[in-house]
Amino acid sequence: MKLFPLFADLQGRRVLVVGGGEVAARKVQVLLEASANVLVGAPQFIPELAELAAEGRIRLVVGAFEPEWLDDAWLVIAATDDRSVNAAVSAAAEARRIFSNVVDDAELSAFQVPAIVDRSPLIVAISSSGAAPVLARRLRERIESLFDHSLGTLATLAARHRARIRERRPDLKQRRRFYDWLMDGPVATALRQQQPAEAERLLQAELDQPQARSQGSVVLVGAGPGDPGLLTLKALRALNEADVILYDRLVSPAVMSLARRDAVRIAVGKLPGEDHNATQARIHALLVEHAQAGQRVVRLKGGDAFIFGRGGEELEHLRAHGVHYEVVPGITAALACAAYAGIPLTHRDHAQSVRLVTAHCRDEEDNLDWTGLARAHQTLAFYMGVGQLENLTARLIGHGRSPATPFALIENGSRPQQRVIAGRLDELAAVARSHDVKAPALLVVGEVAALARELHWFGQYEEGRRVALAA
Ligand code: SAH
Repeated sequence: MKLFPLFADLQGRRVLVVGGGEVAARKVQVLLEASANVLVGAPQFIPELAELAAEGRIRLVVGAFEPEWLDDAWLVIAATDDRSVNAAVSAAAEARRIFSNVVDDAELSAFQVPAIVDRSPLIVAISSSGAAPVLARRLRERIESLFDHSLGTLATLAARHRARIRERRPDLKQRRRFYDWLMDGPVATALRQQQPAEAERLLQAELDQPQARSQGSVVLVGAGPGDPGLLTLKALRALNEADVILYDRLVSPAVMSLARRDAVRIAVGKLPGEDHNATQARIHALLVEHAQAGQRVVRLKGGDAFIFGRGGEELEHLRAHGVHYEVVPGITAALACAAYAGIPLTHRDHAQSVRLVTAHCRDEEDNLDWTGLARAHQTLAFYMGVGQLENLTARLIGHGRSPATPFALIENGSRPQQRVIAGRLDELAAVARSHDVKAPALLVVGEVAALARELHWFGQYEEGRRVALAA
């Protein structure tokens, strides 16, 4: 972090503005909004500044800049159109250890003025550390549109009741929940509808409620395939509100970085030597334990929790223990990988259906309908297949699928390292070996897989090679 952000209390404190033109006047306006004691120095002033001085709202000092102007100042803003004057102001301020800003000149500035979204008392400040002020302003526009103007009123209301809220909700978690209710619930709605009295009444009524017994809950959230842009808004909100997050190995670090900073994060992937059922039992126990302790638990799974994610078993367990839950769907690997590889899973000419399959291919577990799977003009998306390619190919071809059927292997779908490797079914295992395909990878088999060649748009695309190149 190049710059340390801070919000300064300038009330009654002297701030010097050097410059008498439009730019200086704009800075003066903002400083006056913050109740600063403003001194403006320049050889001459535009009428707006002269008027403010006549009204007694600012003081003027006429002439060329002199370091003495900095006496008693806490901050200085140089807003002249003469770089040498700006540099002199900056140097004089530096010598006196007064923070200076030169408008639109990051190099000469000791502090920078951020772009702001003002919902006072809430203020959002944005800085690009001087690197790209235009980007910061663009971001500001977006944030402006995100927050209703009633947000400031809401913050003021909350501030007025702060002591009472603290008294009625002494526990931090309860209090946070109360504030969530305040932000998202009927009080915010009433304020948006310009009904402040109703908002006040609703808030009072809620505070009069005896404290609700702390009731934990679990949100089963699909984290998608890796690209955090593929999270739903609900998933993002759940991550923001979580006390505890139980996450799988497949969940990408980019997604985890969006979670609330002080949420407890527990990796619940398979431990060395542990079998899958033991892992699952351990997860069930952790879910119930944290929820019963009153925590808001997010159970975060790669892709979608209900597609080869054992999400159903987790809900059954929660239900059996009376734990409240919600489910937020995620984008499953087949959908994401196909989209990011340019493979339409269905296509008027090539595929009228699509099947999501996981193939173990071990005889005792294999109860798949291979005859059905081997039919042409359908798309098969195989999960967890990388270790089974030989068997899988043999069964499909053995049951009648053409050896020339196109396939695409999508490794690390939607992540920066994504690779798509395409070829024909009878060469699948050899190609995967020579390209050293690793998990997580999704296999798409079917006529549509050939479209990746033309339509791919993300990451790397490779035509299948059967043998490794000589080292
Ligand atoms: N619930 C998950 C699937 C879990 S099974 C979902 O809905 O996506 C794990 C398998 O999913 C992996 O072996 C792989 O085949 C596939 N997979 C998950 N994420 C993937 C990714 N980013 N790229 C390619 N395949 C992925």
